[in-house]
Amino acid sequence: MERKNAWNFYHEEDLAAVGELSIRYRRFLDAGKTERECAAEAVRMAREEGYRDLLQMVHEGETLRPGDKVYLSFMKKSAAFFWIGTDPLEEGMNIIGAHIDSPRLDLKQVPCYEEAGNVYLDTHYYGGIKKYQWFALPLALHGIIVRKDGTSVSLSVGEKEDDPVFVITDLLPHLGRERNEQKVKDFFDAEKMDLLIGNQPVREKDVKQHILEILSETYQIQEEDFLSAELEIVPAGRARECGMDRSMVLSYGQDDRSCAFAALTALLDTGHSSGAEIPRRTACCLLVDKEETGSNGATGMKSRFFENAVAEIIAMTEEGTDRKETAGEIPFDLRLRRALLHSRMLSADVSAAFDPAFEKYYEKKNSAYLGNGLVFNKYSGSGGKSGANDANPEYMAKLRRIMEESQVTIQTAELGAVDQGGGGTIAYIMAKYGMEVIDCGLAVLSMHAPWEVTSKADLYEAVKGYRAFYKKML
Ligand code: MN
Ligand code: MN
Repeated sequence: MERKNAWNFYHEEDLAAVGELSIRYRRFLDAGKTERECAAEAVRMAREEGYRDLLQMVHEGETLRPGDKVYLSFMKKSAAFFWIGTDPLEEGMNIIGAHIDSPRLDLKQVPCYEEAGNVYLDTHYYGGIKKYQWFALPLALHGIIVRKDGTSVSLSVGEKEDDPVFVITDLLPHLGRERNEQKVKDFFDAEKMDLLIGNQPVREKDVKQHILEILSETYQIQEEDFLSAELEIVPAGRARECGMDRSMVLSYGQDDRSCAFAALTALLDTGHSSGAEIPRRTACCLLVDKEETGSNGATGMKSRFFENAVAEIIAMTEEGTDRKETAGEIPFDLRLRRALLHSRMLSADVSAAFDPAFEKYYEKKNSAYLGNGLVFNKYSGSGGKSGANDANPEYMAKLRRIMEESQVTIQTAELGAVDQGGGGTIAYIMAKYGMEVIDCGLAVLSMHAPWEVTSKADLYEAVKGYRAFYKKML
C-alpha cells in the first residue's frame, strides 16, 4: 500500500492556504482553552457568518427554509450548527461531530488550603492524563465562579505576557533515590497534585488570608464561592508553530479542538459567500463536551440535546414550506427517527500518530503518520474491538470515492497495536440511531500531553475532506 504525504501535492497557492488556515487555527486554540471558551468562540465565528440562535427563533415562532443557517448552544458547553438543505430532513443530514473538552486538572469544590507557608488549590484530574507531565510547568487557571445571587465572574489567569502563572511542584532529583525504584503509577499521587498559588503573608501572618483578600478585591468573590465554580487548570501559553520548517503546531487541547476547528471551518467556509450553493442534505457541525470522561452528563453526547434540536428543526422546517401537507400523514416521532437513521456521520476525533520512539506500541501498516492526511479509523475499541463502532465497508467505499474526487489525501489507521490498549469516541453513541458513522480526524503526536503536536498539512486536508463530506455525501 502506497502512503501519500500531503505536502508533496502542494503548489504555491496551497502552501499559502495551509499557512493562512494554521493562523486561524492557532487563534481558535488560544481563544478556547476550555469547553466553555471554545463553545463561545465557535458561536461567535458562526454568528459572523450569519448563523442565528435556533431557540430564539423558536421563541419568536419563526420558520426555517432551505439555505437558512442556525445554531444551538447547549449550557454554553456544547453547540450544534445547521445549514438547512433542500432535501426534507427525514432523508438525513451530513453530520460532523467533534468534542471540545480536553484532559486537564479541575479544582475541587473546597480547594484552598495553606501548608508550610504556601497556599495551594486542590485539584481533581479530568480525563486520561499522564500525571508526571503536569509537574513543574507553567499552568493557567480558566473558568467561571457563580456567586450565590446568580452573578458570575469569568477568569483567565496565566495567558497574558504579564499574568502570573501557577505550578505543581516536583521533587528534586537529588532526593529521588527511593522514588526511582517505584512504578510510575505509584510515583505521582493525584491527591498531591495541588497548584501553588501563593507564599506572601499579610500583616505578618496568614498567607491564605492574603490570597483570599486578593480574590475578593479582584473578583469580588469569597472563599465559599468556590462551591459554585467551574475552574480548570490548563498549560499556560499559546499555540505555537513547531519545527524549523514550521510544518507542525504545538499546543494544548488539539484532542479534539483540531477536529472541532476543521469541522466548523469546513461548514462556515462552504456557506461563506452569498452565492454559495445550498446543500441537498442539511449540513451539521456538532461540538460536544464530556467525551474525555465517557460522554455522560447533560452536555455530553449521551444527552438528548442533539435529538431535541433536530426535532425543533423538523417542526420549524415544515411550517416554513409546503412539506407540511404531506408530512402530516407521518407521525412526528417517526420523522425524527428517520432524520437520524438516514444521517451520515463523521465522528471527528484525533488518532495517534506513529512515534518511532515508541515503535512497539504501534503496528506500522495500520498506523497514522503525521503529514499523511486525514485519518479514517474504521473501528476503535480495545482488546477484541471491545466497545467499537465498526463502520460498514459500503460507507467506507463511498467516503473513499468522495475523498478521491475532491483530491483529499487520506490514510487509514488503528489507534495502536492490538492488545496494547484502546480508546473510544462519540461514534458508538450516534450509531445507536442506526446512522452510518466512522471515526475520522487528525493524527496527533503526544496525544493527551499538555502540549500535543499536529501537522499543518493534515489540518488542511481535514478541512478539505470535511467540506467534501458536507457537500457530496448523499
Ligand atoms: Mn478525542
Ligand atoms: Mn482524548
